[in-house]
Amino acid sequence: MTRYNLPPLPYKYDALEPVISKRIMELHYSIHHKGYVDGANAALEKLEKYAKGELEIDVKAVMRDFSFHLNGHLLHTIFWPVMKPPEENNKPGGKIGDLIDKQFGSFEAFQKVFGTAAKKVEGVGWAVLYADADDNLYIMQIEKHNLMHLPNMKIILLIDVWEHAYYLQYENKRAAYVDAWWQVVNWEEVDRLLEKGHASPP
Ligand code: MN
Repeated sequence: MTRYNLPPLPYKYDALEPVISKRIMELHYSIHHKGYVDGANAALEKLEKYAKGELEIDVKAVMRDFSFHLNGHLLHTIFWPVMKPPEENNKPGGKIGDLIDKQFGSFEAFQKVFGTAAKKVEGVGWAVLYADADDNLYIMQIEKHNLMHLPNMKIILLIDVWEHAYYLQYENKRAAYVDAWWQVVNWEEVDRLLEKGHASPP
Protein backbone atom coordinates (compact mmCIF):
# COMPACT_ATOMS: atom_id res chain seq x y z
CA MET A 1 0.00 0.00 0.00
CA THR A 2 1.06 3.55 -0.65
CA ARG A 3 3.07 5.25 2.04
CA TYR A 4 4.67 8.68 1.87
CA ASN A 5 8.22 9.73 2.71
CA LEU A 6 9.89 12.98 3.68
CA PRO A 7 12.05 13.97 0.67
CA PRO A 8 15.59 15.24 1.33
CA LEU A 9 15.94 19.00 1.72
CA PRO A 10 17.88 20.16 -1.40
CA TYR A 11 20.24 22.38 0.66
CA LYS A 12 21.51 22.82 4.22
CA TYR A 13 19.30 24.34 6.91
CA ASP A 14 21.31 27.58 6.88
CA ALA A 15 21.40 27.94 3.06
CA LEU A 16 18.63 30.55 2.90
CA GLU A 17 20.08 32.83 5.58
CA PRO A 18 19.70 35.71 6.23
CA VAL A 19 16.29 35.65 4.50
CA ILE A 20 15.09 32.51 6.33
CA SER A 21 16.96 31.46 9.45
CA LYS A 22 18.52 28.07 10.04
CA ARG A 23 16.26 27.43 13.04
CA ILE A 24 13.08 28.12 11.06
CA MET A 25 14.23 25.69 8.37
CA GLU A 26 15.11 23.00 10.94
CA LEU A 27 11.70 23.18 12.58
CA HIS A 28 9.76 23.70 9.38
CA TYR A 29 11.29 20.71 7.60
CA SER A 30 11.96 18.21 10.37
CA ILE A 31 8.87 18.86 12.53
CA HIS A 32 6.16 20.44 10.38
CA HIS A 33 6.76 18.79 7.01
CA LYS A 34 7.47 15.45 8.67
CA GLY A 35 4.21 15.86 10.61
CA TYR A 36 2.26 16.11 7.36
CA VAL A 37 3.94 12.98 5.99
CA ASP A 38 3.16 11.06 9.18
CA GLY A 39 -0.40 12.44 9.28
CA ALA A 40 -1.08 11.42 5.67
CA ASN A 41 0.23 7.90 6.35
CA ALA A 42 -1.83 7.57 9.54
CA ALA A 43 -5.04 8.67 7.77
CA LEU A 44 -4.32 6.32 4.87
CA GLU A 45 -3.84 3.42 7.26
CA LYS A 46 -7.19 4.17 8.90
CA LEU A 47 -8.94 4.25 5.52
CA GLU A 48 -7.33 0.94 4.54
CA LYS A 49 -8.39 -0.71 7.79
CA TYR A 50 -11.91 0.65 7.35
CA ALA A 51 -12.03 -0.82 3.83
CA LYS A 52 -11.10 -4.24 5.23
CA GLY A 53 -13.68 -4.00 8.01
CA GLU A 54 -10.98 -3.87 10.71
CA LEU A 55 -11.75 -0.36 12.01
CA GLU A 56 -14.78 1.89 12.35
CA ILE A 57 -13.98 5.50 11.54
CA ASP A 58 -15.68 8.82 10.81
CA VAL A 59 -14.98 8.62 7.08
CA LYS A 60 -15.64 12.28 6.37
CA ALA A 61 -13.31 13.42 9.16
CA VAL A 62 -10.54 11.02 8.15
CA MET A 63 -10.79 12.03 4.49
CA ARG A 64 -10.56 15.67 5.46
CA ASP A 65 -7.53 14.83 7.62
CA PHE A 66 -5.96 12.88 4.75
CA SER A 67 -6.48 15.77 2.31
CA PHE A 68 -5.04 18.28 4.79
CA HIS A 69 -1.90 16.23 5.46
CA LEU A 70 -1.27 14.98 1.93
CA ASN A 71 -1.68 18.47 0.50
CA GLY A 72 0.65 19.73 3.21
CA HIS A 73 3.20 17.11 2.17
CA LEU A 74 2.88 17.94 -1.54
CA LEU A 75 2.99 21.73 -1.08
CA HIS A 76 6.13 21.53 1.09
CA THR A 77 7.74 19.06 -1.34
CA ILE A 78 7.32 21.63 -4.13
CA PHE A 79 8.20 24.56 -1.86
CA TRP A 80 11.77 23.56 -0.82
CA PRO A 81 13.25 23.36 -4.35
CA VAL A 82 11.71 26.67 -5.49
CA MET A 83 14.11 28.32 -3.04
CA LYS A 84 17.92 28.70 -3.16
CA PRO A 85 20.56 30.81 -1.43
CA PRO A 86 19.70 34.52 -1.56
CA GLU A 87 20.71 36.77 -4.42
CA GLU A 88 20.13 40.48 -4.81
CA ASN A 89 18.23 41.54 -7.93
CA ASN A 90 17.00 37.99 -8.28
CA LYS A 91 14.73 37.94 -11.34
CA PRO A 92 13.06 35.34 -13.54
CA GLY A 93 14.64 34.45 -16.87
CA GLY A 94 13.85 31.76 -19.42
CA LYS A 95 10.32 30.96 -20.50
CA ILE A 96 8.80 31.93 -17.14
CA GLY A 97 10.37 35.40 -17.39
CA ASP A 98 8.79 35.89 -20.83
CA LEU A 99 5.38 34.61 -19.69
CA ILE A 100 5.37 36.89 -16.65
CA ASP A 101 6.24 39.91 -18.80
CA LYS A 102 3.57 38.98 -21.34
CA GLN A 103 0.77 38.25 -18.87
CA PHE A 104 1.47 40.76 -16.09
CA GLY A 105 3.27 43.51 -18.01
CA SER A 106 6.44 43.37 -15.91
CA PHE A 107 8.09 41.37 -13.13
CA GLU A 108 7.34 44.24 -10.73
CA ALA A 109 3.63 44.08 -11.57
CA PHE A 110 3.67 40.31 -11.01
CA GLN A 111 5.47 40.76 -7.67
CA LYS A 112 2.83 43.25 -6.60
CA VAL A 113 -0.06 40.85 -7.20
CA PHE A 114 1.66 37.67 -5.93
CA GLY A 115 3.14 39.48 -2.93
CA THR A 116 -0.20 41.00 -1.98
CA ALA A 117 -1.91 37.61 -2.34
CA ALA A 118 0.67 36.18 0.10
CA LYS A 119 0.41 39.04 2.57
CA LYS A 120 -3.39 38.88 2.57
CA VAL A 121 -3.98 35.16 3.05
CA GLU A 122 -6.53 35.06 5.84
CA GLY A 123 -5.09 33.11 8.78
CA VAL A 124 -2.65 30.48 7.49
CA GLY A 125 -1.99 29.31 3.96
CA TRP A 126 -0.07 29.87 0.78
CA ALA A 127 0.12 32.06 -2.31
CA VAL A 128 0.52 29.97 -5.43
CA LEU A 129 1.33 30.56 -9.08
CA TYR A 130 -0.35 28.00 -11.30
CA ALA A 131 0.06 27.33 -15.01
CA ASP A 132 -2.59 25.61 -17.11
CA ALA A 133 -1.89 23.37 -20.12
CA ASP A 134 -1.74 26.44 -22.40
CA ASP A 135 0.77 28.27 -20.16
CA ASN A 136 -1.79 30.75 -18.85
CA LEU A 137 -0.68 31.84 -15.38
CA TYR A 138 -2.98 32.21 -12.36
CA ILE A 139 -2.19 33.58 -8.92
CA MET A 140 -4.33 32.10 -6.17
CA GLN A 141 -4.39 31.83 -2.40
CA ILE A 142 -4.71 28.54 -0.53
CA GLU A 143 -6.16 28.60 2.95
CA LYS A 144 -4.54 26.05 5.27
CA HIS A 145 -3.35 23.36 2.84
CA ASN A 146 -6.35 22.65 0.74
CA LEU A 147 -9.09 25.26 0.58
CA MET A 148 -9.44 27.21 -2.69
CA HIS A 149 -7.11 24.84 -4.52
CA LEU A 150 -7.52 24.61 -8.29
CA PRO A 151 -7.53 21.01 -9.52
CA ASN A 152 -5.65 19.99 -12.64
CA MET A 153 -3.27 22.93 -12.71
CA LYS A 154 0.50 22.83 -12.34
CA ILE A 155 1.85 24.60 -9.29
CA ILE A 156 5.03 26.36 -10.45
CA LEU A 157 5.76 28.77 -7.58
CA LEU A 158 4.47 29.07 -4.04
CA ILE A 159 5.18 30.70 -0.71
CA ASP A 160 4.23 29.32 2.68
CA VAL A 161 2.71 32.02 4.88
CA TRP A 162 1.83 29.84 7.85
CA GLU A 163 3.29 31.44 10.96
CA HIS A 164 5.71 28.50 11.34
CA ALA A 165 7.35 29.69 8.08
CA TYR A 166 8.44 33.08 9.43
CA TYR A 167 7.31 33.96 12.96
CA LEU A 168 10.52 33.03 14.81
CA GLN A 169 12.41 35.56 12.72
CA TYR A 170 9.89 38.12 11.47
CA GLU A 171 7.34 37.90 14.33
CA ASN A 172 4.09 39.52 13.16
CA LYS A 173 5.70 41.16 10.12
CA ARG A 174 4.54 38.80 7.42
CA ALA A 175 4.93 41.52 4.77
CA ALA A 176 8.67 41.85 5.57
CA TYR A 177 9.09 38.07 5.14
CA VAL A 178 7.22 38.10 1.81
CA ASP A 179 9.25 41.09 0.53
CA ALA A 180 12.58 39.46 1.52
CA TRP A 181 11.55 36.07 0.12
CA TRP A 182 11.97 37.20 -3.52
CA GLN A 183 15.74 36.99 -2.98
CA VAL A 184 15.59 33.22 -2.47
CA VAL A 185 13.27 32.26 -5.33
CA ASN A 186 14.88 29.63 -7.54
CA TRP A 187 13.63 30.77 -10.95
CA GLU A 188 15.40 27.91 -12.75
CA GLU A 189 13.26 25.47 -10.76
CA VAL A 190 10.13 27.51 -11.56
CA ASP A 191 11.02 27.27 -15.26
CA ARG A 192 11.57 23.53 -14.88
CA LEU A 193 8.18 23.09 -13.18
CA LEU A 194 6.55 25.04 -16.01
CA GLU A 195 8.02 22.60 -18.54
CA LYS A 196 7.77 19.33 -16.64
CA GLY A 197 5.17 19.83 -13.93
CA HIS A 198 5.74 18.60 -10.42
CA ALA A 199 5.99 14.93 -9.54
CA SER A 200 3.60 13.06 -7.27
CA PRO A 201 4.52 13.38 -3.60
CA PRO A 202 7.26 10.89 -2.67
MN1 MN B 1 4.79 25.06 6.22
